[in-house]
Amino acid sequence: MSPTIPGFGGPVISPDQAGYDAARAVWNAMHDRRPALIARPRSAADVAAAIGFARAAGLPIAVRGGGHSMPGHSACDGGIVIDLRLLNRVSVDPRKRTAAVGGGALLGDVDRATQRHGLVIPAGVVSHTGVGGLTLGGGVGRLMRRFGLTIDSLLSARLVTADGEILRASADRHPELFWALRGGGGNFGVVTEFEFTLHELSELVILATFHPLEQARQVIERGRREMADPAARDELLWTSFLRRASDVPWMPPELAGRHGIMSLVEWSGDPAEGRAVLAAIRRELNPAASDLSVVPFLVMQTITDDLFGHGLRTYIKAGFAGDLPGGLIDVLLDRAASLRSPISQVELLALGGAIARTGPDATAFPFRDARWLINIPATWRDPADDEREIAWARATYAAVRPYLSEGNYVNFMGDDTDDTAAGAYGRTLGRLQRLKAVYDPGNVFRLNQNIEPAVTPA
Ligand SMILES: Cc1cc2nc3c(=O)[nH]c(=O)nc-3n(C[C@H](O)[C@H](O)[C@H](O)COP(=O)(O)OP(=O)(O)OC[C@H]3O[C@@H](n4cnc5c(N)ncnc54)[C@H](O)[C@@H]3O)c2cc1C
Repeated sequence: MSPTIPGFGGPVISPDQAGYDAARAVWNAMHDRRPALIARPRSAADVAAAIGFARAAGLPIAVRGGGHSMPGHSACDGGIVIDLRLLNRVSVDPRKRTAAVGGGALLGDVDRATQRHGLVIPAGVVSHTGVGGLTLGGGVGRLMRRFGLTIDSLLSARLVTADGEILRASADRHPELFWALRGGGGNFGVVTEFEFTLHELSELVILATFHPLEQARQVIERGRREMADPAARDELLWTSFLRRASDVPWMPPELAGRHGIMSLVEWSGDPAEGRAVLAAIRRELNPAASDLSVVPFLVMQTITDDLFGHGLRTYIKAGFAGDLPGGLIDVLLDRAASLRSPISQVELLALGGAIARTGPDATAFPFRDARWLINIPATWRDPADDEREIAWARATYAAVRPYLSEGNYVNFMGDDTDDTAAGAYGRTLGRLQRLKAVYDPGNVFRLNQNIEPAVTPA
């Protein structure tokens, strides 16, 4: 018999039911957690009922959007998972250029609905990632230099608080809460609907390249020069991946698996202009293998879905950098040579552009001045490789650390002891803690990069 939550209208899955194991699985297979209940709300009122039930029963609450949290925050042992997957409706108003997006929608749900109108929300790059966690942490992706972080396109959010109150936060209503939701992660409540402004875009020009490791320095330096140029166009985004060559259609078989650098230089403006710009970059880079093409946005957004599919094991370290100096490049090349897993990589993501034109206090994401996000996701399949891959990521991070600037990106953090709230929220932490004390004084929403409520003097 199904356990019941008073006032809850959606399915509830308990350990004795068929489907429990599939329902509790999260993207990162490192986390094998067994909740007491998995509740799938159909409405904001259901979410309020689930929160009330969990609080009365003293159960910890995990909130699940797309289930992609690398430290597995959307699962818990012995508590209740509020799994938002049924709240995945996306409705687009092409005239107003806005979209209402359910709190449990995946990026693919959003892209399919918005692309019918030639419109986009700038978000992440793998379509099975959840809009919920990605947005609340900031949201980086291929359109970030052009249109900003995902939070920069957020107009409002409907939220269920720890007390079960249903609020809409926007620039006009509960503006402090709206500020906190844009970068403060899942600390303030459960978002059942996001409202975004949309941008026009339906295709990209893409230059993908591979160089063996011996030539990686020149590629990193070329990307650095391009992105450091004050005249660099927002339409241009340079991302490099120190990794083993993946088995993509344009990679000659003799190069697949070889240590090196793969780069993705993406142009989100006029295609004819982009082709010319990227062709010039390709001539200069003279890669061992490459592909230059105009790609529909929807295709690009799903191109790495399988490479980073469900059930992989991941351990992540990351940080921001103001520049990529020679000493850092030395360290990166050294660490890249010892990569073993064919899926692990060091990602160099260029920031700047529209991200940097929003002030550091305008949203709860304060690291607007950083020029690079250096992401070190070790990813592998076999549990026997856990120790080796974690050690590789940790050693790589330790070597890179002296070159990093302040802060961590909430969505690229694990739960090591050095993954602290001070690192995640930087200068905004104090303001966030004061708001946490208002909206969630009992820290009901604590399975996240947690912000402890400020203690107010008696
Ligand atoms: C394969 C892969 C690709 C990725 N690519 C990108 C990328 O391109 N850009 C990027 O910025 N990040 C990326 N990430 C990181 C991603 O943003 C985070 O893992 C994020 O937490 C995923 O959100 P989710 O809803 O899928 O996760 P979940 O695990 O479901 O949620 C993570 C946390 O977010 C909170 N949360 C989620 N939904 C809600 C909600 N509706 N209301 C309140 N709280 C909520 C909860 O605190 C929850 O613990 C990627 C991760 C993976 C695994």
